[in-house]
Parts: sequence; structure tokens; C-alpha cells
Amino acid sequence: MGFDCDVIVIGGGPAGSTAAAALARDGRSVVILERDTFPRFHIGESLLASVNDVFEAIGASELIRAAQFPQKWGATFMTPDGHVERFADFAISSEVPSPQTWQVPRAEFDDMLLRHAASCGADVRQRHRVVDITFAADGVQVSYRVNRGEQDDPDPGPDPAATLRGQMLIDASGRASLLGRRFGLRVNEPGLANVAVFSHYAGVPRAEGRRAGDIRIVARADGGWFWLIPISNELMSVGAVLPQQAFLAQRRMEAGELLQCLIADTPAVARLVAAAERRWPVRVERDFSYASKRYAGDRWITVGDAGAFLDPVFSSGVAIALESGLEGARAVERGLARGDLSARAFRAFDRRQRARYRSFRRFVVSFYTPAFRDLFFSDDPPQRMFRAVITVLAGYWRPSLVSRVWLHLFFLSVRMQAKFGFERSHLDQGHEDQVSVGSAFRRT
Ligand SMILES: Cc1cc2nc3c(=O)[nH]c(=O)nc-3n(C[C@H](O)[C@H](O)[C@H](O)COP(=O)(O)OP(=O)(O)OC[C@H]3O[C@@H](n4cnc5c(N)ncnc54)[C@H](O)[C@@H]3O)c2cc1C
Repeated sequence: MGFDCDVIVIGGGPAGSTAAAALARDGRSVVILERDTFPRFHIGESLLASVNDVFEAIGASELIRAAQFPQKWGATFMTPDGHVERFADFAISSEVPSPQTWQVPRAEFDDMLLRHAASCGADVRQRHRVVDITFAADGVQVSYRVNRGEQDDPDPGPDPAATLRGQMLIDASGRASLLGRRFGLRVNEPGLANVAVFSHYAGVPRAEGRRAGDIRIVARADGGWFWLIPISNELMSVGAVLPQQAFLAQRRMEAGELLQCLIADTPAVARLVAAAERRWPVRVERDFSYASKRYAGDRWITVGDAGAFLDPVFSSGVAIALESGLEGARAVERGLARGDLSARAFRAFDRRQRARYRSFRRFVVSFYTPAFRDLFFSDDPPQRMFRAVITVLAGYWRPSLVSRVWLHLFFLSVRMQAKFGFERSHLDQGHEDQVSVGSAFRRT
């Protein structure tokens, strides 16, 4: 098979752009086929501290800094009534090298990364929708259709089709997960079948100083939660995540009405949004989590959501997309250099994707148990244990051995809490005292 390029990347989101930028910087010829026209809306606006390492590795740090997105130092977790606040400041962990990260309007952020990939030398082709993939022993062929978009001709005929041949394929198609679906690799997580309802608001009050850029996570009594993310000086992204059962139990409501009802019965959010003005239509998205049986095979790997998707409660999606994009690029570069692009060459890559998913999944699954929340919102959590927790929540999912021991103790405590219930639930008790107990997460 003759090749048009070394590597074909499907999808120009954060995972695809990162993989393409890294490979192009290594001198490989890379083509990104992206279905949409950027900038395009995407949900997922809160980043973790670990993304700084990836920006550095692909030469995008300056670019991101210059964009002056709102600075994020951590997360504030709140009970539904807002009376208990838990500050998770990434700086309390000595294992987080650059604790300050960003909140980003994704249309702008993704567009910047895609342009960055192009400036590194990747051939970026937007409005190219991949419709078929054929693997051969010596290469891979991708068929795509070019969306001609808005044209004067009312009947422009079918979109033109074409093919592209490369040595290697990186599937970064997000939750479309082209290869995952085609090979039947997706492993759904029925326990994490949630639905998100969200929009952007102007005029939501912010905290003072360093906490102003925090993502605020507000727990709901039904097991769901709200996010509030300051994505610009003006706009706050506000969204609710509900277990599917809770979503289905709502009487059939139009999306805007549903979000309004959810806000109204979450007192902490209702207070914050009381005088705010909605600036976007309300959107609804399924955010069902899934893992993959495999993240690599002969001449292919999956990166970002194309491989696995985890419930967004700890804002891990973009960090995982960037990290896996970079790791994928490195693995592919090694394979190209050695002339081995077989599944065997990507075993270490595959193992790492599984390990990271498992590591974050443990937190996500735990978050939906009352025991985790009771412990998380308890008045006096042990400092070292919570530092270890924050290390992972900042994106450093492989912390030091000492932190791993503390994490083990943390999850043991969650199990004990579930069994014996030492702490009273802050989700269903009345709060006579209106005291914030956020000190446990502050740097001491
Ligand atoms: C409700 C919700 C809230 C979230 N909140 C957060 C958050 O706060 N923080 C966070 O880090 N993450 C969050 N996420 C997750 C985050 O959005 C994703 O993890 C992230 O966008 C993954 O990046 P990606 O590059 O893998 O995929 P995407 O960003 O989805 O990019 C995939 C690209 O592939 C393209 N594509 C798809 N099919 C084709 C095709 N056939 N041909 C060509 N191109 C194709 C698409 O157009 C798209 O541009 C959230 C997700 C949800 C659902």
C-alpha cells in the first residue's frame, strides 16, 4: 500500500490535536480529519493541573497563558444547602508541580489546540467526516465525506467522498468512538448512567480572591450534583448531572424548565443564580460512562473519549484526553521508528489507559455513595489523607507510594463509613450552624 501520510488522526478535539501536534513536532506527516467546523461548542470546561505538563510537552504553554482564561486553583465542594464548603486547593499537595490551571470556553480552547497542531505541521482538514476504515497488513485506509456546508446551490448533491492511506490510525473521535463501536470494545458502566442539563449564565456571583476561579460542585440530595464553572469574566457554565433514573422520574419537561426546577430545588445554586441571566439555550447530554476492552490493536490506538469516558464530576475528561493523546503519540512514534505497529508494540500504552481509568473511576463511583460524601464533608478529615486525595483530583493519578497508602486508607474509611456510618450525612441533616469547614484542604 502506498501512503498519503504516516498517521491519520480521526477527530480534532483535545486528544486528536495533542496527538497530532506531538507527532508533527517529531517530523511525522499527520493528517487530522475533523467532522465539524471549528470553533464549535463542546461541553467540558474545567481543567486539571496535570494538563500543564502536556501543554509544555507540545509547546502550547505560552499560547494557553496568553489566552488569559480564568485561573483555576482548585474546586469547592458544597452541600445542597451550601452550608458546608470543602475547598480542594491543588497547591496543598507537594506532588502537584504547577497547581494553577484554567477554566476554558471549549469552542475557543479546542480551536486554539487545533490551530496549534496545524502550526506544528499537521495537515488539518475540517468538515471531513470519516465513514469507513479498512485495515490491511501493511497500512490503513480511511474513507471520508467532505461536508460542503452552506452553499448557494439548494441541491449541491451528495458530499464528495475520498480516501486516505496511512501507516497508522489514531482514533480521537470522542464519544462517537468509531473503533470502539466497530470492534464492539465499549464496556458500559450501568452504575454511571447519568444525564447532564446545562447552560451559560451571566451575573452569577463569584467567590473572592484565589477561590474566584474554582469550579463549584454542589451535591444534590438525589445523588446528582451541580457544576458552576467561571469560563470568562462574564459567563458561568451551570449544569446539573442526574442519575438517569432521577432524570426519567421528572415529568416530561422542556430542557429550560427542567434546569430551572433543578436549580430551584438545590438551595445553594438557587441563591447563586437568583439574579443571573441565561445566555444560551439549555442543552441536555447523556454522559454515560464506558471503558474499553482494548485501547490498541494492529495499526490503531484510541485516545481520549474515543477509548473511554468517565463521569465528569472530577473534571478529568480533558486532562485524560490530553495525556492519552501525548502518550499515544509517543507510542506511535516509537512504533514507527522501530517499524513495529502491531498490537504488541502498544501493550504498555494499553495498560496505562486501563490503569488511569481504574484510578479515576474509583473516585467517581465512590462520589455517588453517601459514605463518600459524608466523609468528604466531615468536619475534620485527616490532612495527609486529603492531600493524597487532592493529588489525584489534580490529575496526578499515580502519586508517591506514601500517597497511595493514604489513598488506600481513604477508601477503607469510605467502606467503614458505609458499613458503620460514623459521620452524619450532611446531605440530609439540618444545619443549625452556618460555618464553612473548608480549612482541611487549605495549605497549612
Ligand atoms: C456533561 C459533561 C461535562 C463535562 N465536564 C468536563 C469538565 O468540566 N472537565 C473536563 O475535563 N471534561 C469534562 N467533560 C469531558 C470532556 O468534554 C471530554 O472528556 C473531552 O472533550 C474529550 O476530548 P476528546 O478529544 O477525546 O473528544 P472530543 O472533544 O469530543 O473531540 C472529538 C472530535 O471528533 C470529531 N469526530 C467525531 N466523529 C467523527 C468522524 N466520524 N469523522 C471525523 N471527526 C469526527 C468530533 O467532531 C470532535 O470534534 C464533560 C463531559 C460531559 C458530557
